Amino acid sequence: MARKYRPLPDEMVEYIVIHTSASPQKYTWEWLLHYFINILNWSVAGYHVVVEETGLVKRLVPHGKQSNGVKAFRAKDIFISNRNAIHICWEGGIDENGQPTDNRTEIQERELIRVLEWYLWKYPNAKVLGHNQVDLKNCPCFNVIEWARQIEYTDLNTNTRIVGIPEWRIYKGDNFKVLEYHFGYDSTKQASA
Ligand SMILES: [Zn+2]
Repeated sequence: MARKYRPLPDEMVEYIVIHTSASPQKYTWEWLLHYFINILNWSVAGYHVVVEETGLVKRLVPHGKQSNGVKAFRAKDIFISNRNAIHICWEGGIDENGQPTDNRTEIQERELIRVLEWYLWKYPNAKVLGHNQVDLKNCPCFNVIEWARQIEYTDLNTNTRIVGIPEWRIYKGDNFKVLEYHFGYDSTKQASA
């Protein structure tokens, strides 16, 4: 089926958003795509790239096109919508009772970082955040700010290993207090939002 994609020019990308699919870990990217297109009746998938529990990485939306990961949101320090954001999803995020949980596997975590490092290189001015920083959601079930500060990744410009994404590339807002509520995050202690 032909999909109606909207363009997402490289120079428009300001944010890289981390998501969870909030689905059982065993579900595959095919299921996710089916869910968006046939069940939700969206014209495009919710994420550009999904990382399965096995570490398999699958692109759901072509590069340079918009996916459907966020509702547009504006605050004093951010305006985010699908027109300026890339959406990366790890598959999983609920336990056997359907409750939110961070059940990323080791290889999934490694591949998630690998996808992110490519986008950090591709969009040198873009900032990283979790969906829960701009919507009242658990997604992606962890504190992306603290995570981004301690992950080890490769700077693809210099091909060097780095620990921690530069502070200026991490969006610090906690607009719905989800990080405060779940992770004790104190946004007032951050140097800049
Ligand atoms: Zn999300």
